[in-house]
Amino acid sequence: ASAVDIRKVNKYYGPFHALKDVDLAIPPGKVTCLIGPSGSGKSTLLRCINFLEEYDSGEIRIDGQLIGYEAPGRKMSGRKLREMRRSIGMVFQQFNLWPHMTALGNVAEGLVRVRGLSKAEAQARAAEALAKVGLADKMGNHPARLSGGQQQRVAIARAIAMEPRLMLFDEPTSALDPELVGEVLNVMKTLAGEGMTMVVVTHEMGFAAHVADQVAFMEKGELVGVDSPGRILHHP
Ligand code: ADP
Ligand code: ADP
Repeated sequence: ASAVDIRKVNKYYGPFHALKDVDLAIPPGKVTCLIGPSGSGKSTLLRCINFLEEYDSGEIRIDGQLIGYEAPGRKMSGRKLREMRRSIGMVFQQFNLWPHMTALGNVAEGLVRVRGLSKAEAQARAAEALAKVGLADKMGNHPARLSGGQQQRVAIARAIAMEPRLMLFDEPTSALDPELVGEVLNVMKTLAGEGMTMVVVTHEMGFAAHVADQVAFMEKGELVGVDSPGRILHHP
């Protein structure tokens, strides 16, 4: 069974048809990269997976469970949606860290608020997640005292500390100076190696070619092909 099953999904922004009958199966434990020109609908599709963006027709199922709707056309309660989203980690282009909190605080906060862990438990788990992204020695730093690459790794640590079954990445390296891109891609590669199910919108063709298990190409709102990464370089 697929980790995420996307079937005949359509999405409109007013009259603009942003996703056209998109079908895609995301296999568990694998990395799927979404690539294509700017404006082709990659980010919209990614955001539909956790219903940050509402789709208008079709179905998206996470481990078999419909997300966003109880049944076609009937929306799911906010509580149920939040519950489903808890198992989905999301990393954006912008890091969205709290500036007044340390790296440790940024990762621990959600564990206290969303998971209900005690402060001590949350900090222990946060420290583990930060060590995993190579930031064991930066836990006490505030975001302003971290590089962009380090801030993005904190954002990844914050997501993995919640123990998601699925991670969504929306151009996680596009806001970074070129010399900092590699450290973030390496962390993502490590996660991939551990069998995390990942969907990654990216312009990093090297990452797509070497780390992805499948590459989905989007063009003008349509998913025009799904391929093995080896063939990326041959795509027009
Ligand atoms: P990509 O991620 O491939 O660059 P997007 O999914 O961000 O593309 O956008 C796809 C298309 O939908 C673009 O033409 C964009 O202008 C349009 N779009 C995205 N978000 C909105 C919105 N909130 N309202 C109207 N149009 C939007
Ligand atoms: P990116 O190219 O990094 O996806 P954009 O500048 O296209 O970023 O979009 C930034 C934000 O504006 C997103 O939240 C997107 O949904 C929204 N957006 C994009 N295009 C439009 C549009 N044509 N009308 C309204 N909102 C849009």
